[in-house]
Amino acid sequence: MKVYTLSGSLGGEAILIVKGQAAALVDSGFDFCGDQLAAKIKDTLGDIPLGEIILTHSHYDHLGGCVAIQQIYPDAKIIANPLVRQIIAKESARATMRKLNHEAAAAAGKPAIDRIDQLKIDYDLAPGETRQSVLGPITAISTPGHTRCSTSYYLPEDEMLILSETTGVIVDQHYAPCFVVSYAATVESFDRCAKFHAKRIIVPHYGLIEGHRAEEFLEKSRAASIGAAEFVLEHHAAGQSEEEILKEYADKYYYGLCDKAQPELAFFINTSTMINRVIKEAEQTAAGKN
Ligand SMILES: [Zn+2]
Repeated sequence: MKVYTLSGSLGGEAILIVKGQAAALVDSGFDFCGDQLAAKIKDTLGDIPLGEIILTHSHYDHLGGCVAIQQIYPDAKIIANPLVRQIIAKESARATMRKLNHEAAAAAGKPAIDRIDQLKIDYDLAPGETRQSVLGPITAISTPGHTRCSTSYYLPEDEMLILSETTGVIVDQHYAPCFVVSYAATVESFDRCAKFHAKRIIVPHYGLIEGHRAEEFLEKSRAASIGAAEFVLEHHAAGQSEEEILKEYADKYYYGLCDKAQPELAFFINTSTMINRVIKEAEQTAAGKN
């Protein structure tokens, strides 16, 4: 098995997995640079066909390149959590994706191309379900926390876990927390993934991690997420508003760390939601204990 981290533009990484004469892509990057990513896939694969695009969640920087890639590989089938199909059916969600795609294109100094309206999911794979993929059997695992639809996948033949962004990413050797919609669900998702004791993991935006480093990633990334939640709660307890916490959080976790890889608008949308949810969940937990 060979694994390649390919990108049409920084922040739009997709992970190409090649097993013998079969290949599948994990996520598909941004829409605006989908053609460049498709060309890199073609350069890497040569005559090997791309059989599938496996989506980890519905964010614009993960599914945006699908249409461009299917123009080069019409037989590549898109597999996703059924929630992804529901989300892309909503015009409001596609409008947000277009807006963020434009922002990412502008930041990269490239023209924006919008193909999101043409995107069609070929196969729903609900959490707990298994199907035969070009890489062998693949089981979807619910890992909500980054989004509700965030899904990881286990490939038992290769003892490989394809992770979603709920369990964080690595940017410039830093563990970057990525939870947004729920901190509680994120901690559960970490625990669910750790139980597989996978020999290989695929980390979104980053690529393959093998052996003891796979388990180490989940432990350290989990600690980084817990640290981020504690950062929010400590500043909240000190009387800061959510906007003040957002500003300090950005200084600690974004500028100089992830600002080259993630456009500012997407960071601020995600992080303001995350701060709000961390505070709300802590209040609910405290109320439940009384
Ligand atoms: Zn995302």
